[in-house]
Amino acid sequence: MGSITLEKVSKSFGTTSVIPEIDLEIHDGEFVVFVGPSGCGKSTLLRMIAGLEDLSGGRIIIDGKDMSSEAPAKRGLSMVFQSYALYPHMTVYGNIAFPLKMDGQEKSVIDKKVKDAAHILNLTNYLERRPGQLSGGQRQRVAIGRAIVRQPKAFLFDEPLSNLDAALRGNMRLEISDLHHQLKTTMIYVTHDQVEAMTMADKIVVLNAGRIEQVGSPMELYRNPKNVFVAGFIGSPR
Ligand code: ADP
Ligand code: MG
Repeated sequence: MGSITLEKVSKSFGTTSVIPEIDLEIHDGEFVVFVGPSGCGKSTLLRMIAGLEDLSGGRIIIDGKDMSSEAPAKRGLSMVFQSYALYPHMTVYGNIAFPLKMDGQEKSVIDKKVKDAAHILNLTNYLERRPGQLSGGQRQRVAIGRAIVRQPKAFLFDEPLSNLDAALRGNMRLEISDLHHQLKTTMIYVTHDQVEAMTMADKIVVLNAGRIEQVGSPMELYRNPKNVFVAGFIGSPR
């Protein structure tokens, strides 16, 4: 299960309020996209859900349990970063297996999970390579593989494709959507790219200066944008 509820979540850095107050309901299995201009608080919100950033106020509830002050490892979520954060000296196999080894899981169990993930991500023939011998798209897949093997309640993506060129971005968009169809795990996906939001999301959350402007399916937002900001951002003809 992977339902995530934000209740009156707020964040200030010093005296600067970055997120005044956000309420949001994310259902198990949903693909939710946080979209909005640079600096509107998307990463901060995702990092608070992941437990990498303290809340200034409010609660984060995961599967009915208040996780607001739990350590990241206790939340059962996997974060995929735009910078990949792979270990350059380890093979692809070693990188994907790493979180399982840290968990102290058995070698045969690790082997099966790594190979299953590699199969899903088309990395089976690259397991002995090192990150330096891979393309950008392949590196991103390894980073996703490392998230998959932990069988998280939800995946959290922070602009995972922004370092890739346009053609590769299109491919990876399809791959991540396909992964969601296969795993049916909750995904929260942060982007400032309208095309990613419109093509990947079950539900789009449009953020502006730390506030939610509108929440809805891509079609709802396109047909019925609440205001000029949403219309402009989604590219709908209002
Ligand atoms: P986004 O991901 O939407 O581009 P961020 O969540 O990174 O936006 O940032 C939102 C706002 O919070 C920005 O104004 C940013 O400068 C500020 N901010 C983010 N992290 C910190 C921090 N550690 N200290 C101070 N200000 C921060
Ligand atoms: Mg960001």
